Amino acid sequence: MPDPNSQKDLAAAVPFESWGRYPTYPAKITSLNWQSDYAPAIAHLHQGGALPVGMGRSYGDSCLLKDGNLLVTTGMNRLISFDPETGDLTAEAGMTLAQILDFAVPRGFFLPVSPGTKYVTLGGAIANDIHGKNHHVAGTFGRHVTQFELVRSDGTRKICSATQNEDWYAATIGGLGLTGFISWATLRMKPIVSRNIDYEGIQFHGIDEFLDLTKQSHNIEYTVSWVDCASTGKNFCRGVFMQGDHSTKPTPLIISPEPKLVFPFDAPGAALNHTTVSLFNTAFFHKQIHKRVVALQDYEPFFYPLDKVLHWNRMYGKGGLLQFQYAIPWESAREGTIAIMQAVAKSGLASFLAVLKAFGDVPSPGMMSFPKPGITLALDFPIKADKTFPLVERLADMTCDYGGRLYPAKDAAMTAPQFQAFYPQWEEFARFRDPLITSSFWERVTGDKLPL
Ligand SMILES: Cc1cc2nc3c(=O)[nH]c(=O)nc-3n(C[C@H](O)[C@H](O)[C@H](O)COP(=O)(O)OP(=O)(O)OC[C@H]3O[C@@H](n4cnc5c(N)ncnc54)[C@H](O)[C@@H]3O)c2cc1C
Repeated sequence: MPDPNSQKDLAAAVPFESWGRYPTYPAKITSLNWQSDYAPAIAHLHQGGALPVGMGRSYGDSCLLKDGNLLVTTGMNRLISFDPETGDLTAEAGMTLAQILDFAVPRGFFLPVSPGTKYVTLGGAIANDIHGKNHHVAGTFGRHVTQFELVRSDGTRKICSATQNEDWYAATIGGLGLTGFISWATLRMKPIVSRNIDYEGIQFHGIDEFLDLTKQSHNIEYTVSWVDCASTGKNFCRGVFMQGDHSTKPTPLIISPEPKLVFPFDAPGAALNHTTVSLFNTAFFHKQIHKRVVALQDYEPFFYPLDKVLHWNRMYGKGGLLQFQYAIPWESAREGTIAIMQAVAKSGLASFLAVLKAFGDVPSPGMMSFPKPGITLALDFPIKADKTFPLVERLADMTCDYGGRLYPAKDAAMTAPQFQAFYPQWEEFARFRDPLITSSFWERVTGDKLPL
């Protein structure tokens, strides 16, 4: 993704890529630095419609608009107010979760829900109604957004909350940026007294041990598992169950240091293959020498281990990667997860990062929110033209057969019939779409294209 802060309005289209680096589409990029920049930007659209975007940390094409106009919000990153009594923090939508943490942690507050990277904006977190390791107790991010302002391309402004413009609130949370421009939002933060997490890592062998650990940990705030998707036989579905709570022992609440490591180059396409991933998985599994490890861990490595190396997506080479994340409901979650993991292991296309978690039953506020109670598995595959797309299409069909759905924020491949089966409410949602806003994802999965 180009650095949005280094450019003003660009007359010519430039290639723009999301975190998965696939697909890459040309778009005209306009930086929004003030909330008032939106009205003129949308009034003077180049052809092709527009899409507000944040840090481009979605993996596929939900933050892309081929030959259209991307309105990049990261220059709009001011804090508007903070109430230490309630923890209510109001900020412009381009503020990142990293910037929010830098402000809030020294004051004894933390994010109510955090994804696996802190380099996402408040607007992006709302538009995908993101989830974190505490989904089973806290639900999605949108549940903690008490209000926001939505600006439509006709200039109308709506304050949206659970009690005001409720239908727009529900459509915009998880609404993929399509209902309009979120200019600012209020997030209810949670109090902490320490940067540390009381961490426990537990090895497991097989899905049933994973499910037992999930049951035992229902009172623990954060749970997530790394799982080995390359092994078969006795090592099938082995993994490390990681759980933790914020430490209640007070320690100094200092700001995190800036990451210093940068992945320096685009790795050759063949660097990540079944052999290297299997070697990594074996090393990772045995890194934890004992079955159970207890430690006090800083929140940075606990929540954001990948953020330590900037541009780590270059590891997949210039061709990029396909992410694939499903949620399958409890009725078929065990069976579906085994079948999908077997299909991955047999495919010879190993996933380097495989994350398994149980979603809880806290309802999501968004009409199009992805999580549902059951199991979610996130996988990533380096793109090998002849193998990756057929595999991912098959896995998406299996997800459908098991009553699950895929996460649009991590998708570049689901077909229109698959999307429409996963999200049957999509036509009702489409009534809320702003007529000048669209995305390459939306055009792909609905066939609904703005006239050029
Ligand atoms: C390493 C890594 C780990 C991740 N872990 C998780 C995880 O654990 N859980 C999870 O749920 N997701 C996770 N994600 C996905 C990520 O959290 C989401 O894709 C998030 O939405 C990205 O935010 P962004 O600011 O980069 O938005 P972008 O990717 O730029 O845009 C995302 C969507 O938000 C819309 N949008 C952005 N700003 C606005 C605005 N002001 N008004 C209206 N719409 C707007 C865009 O139109 C687009 O539809 C992860 C991503 C990475 C790279």
